[in-house]
Amino acid sequence: MTTPINFYDFNREEMTNLLTEWGSPRHTGAQVYQWLYKKKAKGFGDMTDLPKALREDLSSKAALSGLRLHTKQVSQDGTIKYLWQLPTDAMGPGATVESVLIPMARDEEGQPGRFTACLSTQAGCRMKCTFCATGVPKFGRNLSTAEIIGQILGMEQDSSTSFNNVVVMGMGEPMDNYEHTQKAMRILNDPEGLGLGRRRITVSTSGLIDHMTRFIKDDWPVSLAVSLHSADPEIRSKLMPINRSNPLDKLKKVMIDFTRKRRLPVTLEYILLKDVNDRPEDAQKLYSYCKDLLCKVNLIRYNPVPTLPFNAPSEERVDAFREDLKKRGMRVFLRERKGVDIAAACGQLGFENQVDRVTS
Ligand code: SF4
Repeated sequence: MTTPINFYDFNREEMTNLLTEWGSPRHTGAQVYQWLYKKKAKGFGDMTDLPKALREDLSSKAALSGLRLHTKQVSQDGTIKYLWQLPTDAMGPGATVESVLIPMARDEEGQPGRFTACLSTQAGCRMKCTFCATGVPKFGRNLSTAEIIGQILGMEQDSSTSFNNVVVMGMGEPMDNYEHTQKAMRILNDPEGLGLGRRRITVSTSGLIDHMTRFIKDDWPVSLAVSLHSADPEIRSKLMPINRSNPLDKLKKVMIDFTRKRRLPVTLEYILLKDVNDRPEDAQKLYSYCKDLLCKVNLIRYNPVPTLPFNAPSEERVDAFREDLKKRGMRVFLRERKGVDIAAACGQLGFENQVDRVTS
């Protein structure tokens, strides 16, 4: 049996072309697309402004398949982690993947205000950063466009919450799943799709230079974050093996190219690891690397993974590092810790599945 076409794999133009090929007028594609993303239809039967015969025809040829929720965990701080069970299909054997809904602020009554959705693009990761739980197990597979978009729709539906920020910082290297991630980002940004502006979507990469060059040329409608974690080539290579083939000087050139073409700063992610990259000389190297780059730095306290040999620095060390950069005139922020108690924080995704703690 062949897997039916999933309409969530299609952008607006592709949907229009497909439906035209199937004999519908061109505007039908836009109508269906609107039902998917504006009216959040659960099935073709909901699309009441389409003729009944067409709805039946579409049901026989295509599907609106979302993700199956396996487990949901809620942190003391309101962060919600979702574990999705992926189907076994043409993309490969069934695997699980996680996404996170992060409350960003609280209203006057102490209830979570805006939410940021953190998405995954791969089950596992081939980059094998040594501090990250996601890279430890064998790589699973790339997610389809529908599976990336499905995380948003699934979280929206489950939480009855809308969110106005999306970060692609979950499991996987987004640019290692280039085509599917690109298409998902275009659907997120499309005013007739999920309608999020470029500044509301951030894609984070470990720094794959060739992919980033292509990303700039293709003009993905997103902001860019780069996981730097050290401006020292040796230390970075130990933390991120991809640094050996994607060196810091070339990485900087491509980031400068992005800032010039898009007129946007790059966000540099910097996880502080005790006695590895949190010393005054590390701050000095970071400053030297950044001084002619339009950027802001997001410092992240390391979130421990029990099986990995790293620790978080003391609060004094974190403050000293931040102050050092600030005094040098850098734009620097310290990311609030969220979801640590449910292993939903940065670098922790995928860990619980590895130790088989998740129950269905
Ligand atoms: S930090 Fe990101 S790129 Fe590195 S292994 Fe983890 S998920 Fe992959």
